[in-house]
Amino acid sequence: MTNSRVLISGAGIGGPALAHRLAERGFRVTVVERAGGLREAGYKVDVRGSATEVLRKMGLLAACQAADTGMRQITYVKSNGAPIAALPADLLMGRRGDDLEIMRWDLSRILHDATADRVEYVFGDAIDTLQDGLDGVDVTFEKGAPRRFDYVVGADGLHSATRRTVMGETPLSHLGAYISIYTVPNLLGIEREEIMYSRPGRLVFAYAMDRDQPARVGLTFASPRLDIDRRDVAGQKALVREAFAGQGWKVPDFLDAMDDAPDFYFDSLSQVDLPSWSAGRVALLGDAAYCPSPASGQGTSLALVGAYLLGRHLGTPGGFAAYEREMRPYVEKNLAFGRKMAKEMVPGGRLSIAFRNYGMRTLKYHPRKEQMIDKILAPMHEAANAITI
Ligand SMILES: Cc1cc2nc3c(=O)[nH]c(=O)nc-3n(C[C@H](O)[C@H](O)[C@H](O)COP(=O)(O)OP(=O)(O)OC[C@H]3O[C@@H](n4cnc5c(N)ncnc54)[C@H](O)[C@@H]3O)c2cc1C
Repeated sequence: MTNSRVLISGAGIGGPALAHRLAERGFRVTVVERAGGLREAGYKVDVRGSATEVLRKMGLLAACQAADTGMRQITYVKSNGAPIAALPADLLMGRRGDDLEIMRWDLSRILHDATADRVEYVFGDAIDTLQDGLDGVDVTFEKGAPRRFDYVVGADGLHSATRRTVMGETPLSHLGAYISIYTVPNLLGIEREEIMYSRPGRLVFAYAMDRDQPARVGLTFASPRLDIDRRDVAGQKALVREAFAGQGWKVPDFLDAMDDAPDFYFDSLSQVDLPSWSAGRVALLGDAAYCPSPASGQGTSLALVGAYLLGRHLGTPGGFAAYEREMRPYVEKNLAFGRKMAKEMVPGGRLSIAFRNYGMRTLKYHPRKEQMIDKILAPMHEAANAITI
């Protein structure tokens, strides 16, 4: 199946990972990305279980391990900044095997750089229309000239325009919270340390790789579905300001830094759960097809595994059906895990925060703490390894 032309929409994680596999198989691959370049935004992301095997097969595991966040400590703080508990990251993260944690843009950059010499990347453009025919897909772009491809893959994230074009409106499943992530000055002086601060219905977290580098802050708040215009960044910032007004600790500084942040990211904690991931010559990949939500910590792993399987089957007879058949049980498991984690991610009232803080404060004295954490994290490892590559 060499020489077939594939268009991938989205140069996040799934898009470049699929491009890597398809280029190896001899496809001519174009990736179109709406942003003007790779988006240097986001927080740390996890790559676990079967997804690390995908990185190994791609020959990129060592590069990703070299960029691991190397997080050392997680510290829970009170509103005056005093520590409640400081715990070794290894204990709480419960990594197994080659599980790794990497800043999102580092992974995106590694995948892009590993493919840039064999794949055509078009930044600052997007698909306008798709006409799926018997022997190809005619594509018009918002800026570039029309072109014909043999296959099109939508790896364009949670709000996928490709999904909307081929499947119509498919409502997201709202998991009851919103998340905002952006760069702030490293006023905390943290280095390979994550700080967590809980308030009723709100969670604030901050991380920096190095004392001399800026930190990334995450502000998450519980909320029913809101009517939000995705292009209205000023409106999204106003919402975050309102949700975190008067919340103590360094929150006022974080809110002050919001307007200077070059990478403000805001979205709902939502899932995509579709009955099918393809139509004709068009398929969906990653968050566009099966977003488990950031609460699961599994979105990146799903995109990598999905890219590997779609990359194996695309262009073969019944290829899209095989991709779906092999991938779906793993996806179902991770969507269920994401729903469970979303309930636990944002703290409830004062009582549940006090209970959590007590647990964190006393954990290090527990004689069987490793086994206890292992038991708590067992569903995560089960979901992460629910497919054999
Ligand atoms: C800026 C950003 C920051 C993120 N930060 C986090 C985080 O901190 N923690 C976390 O758990 N998850 C985060 N995510 C989501 C996470 O990257 C995904 O869950 C996961 O990695 C799956 O990757 P994906 O390639 O399917 O989607 P994504 O990583 O979302 O990539 C989709 C890509 O498609 C592009 N795109 C969107 N619409 C179009 C269009 N119409 N045409 C062309 N391109 C388009 C986007 O700009 C993006 O580059 C973030 C996503 C983005 C885009």
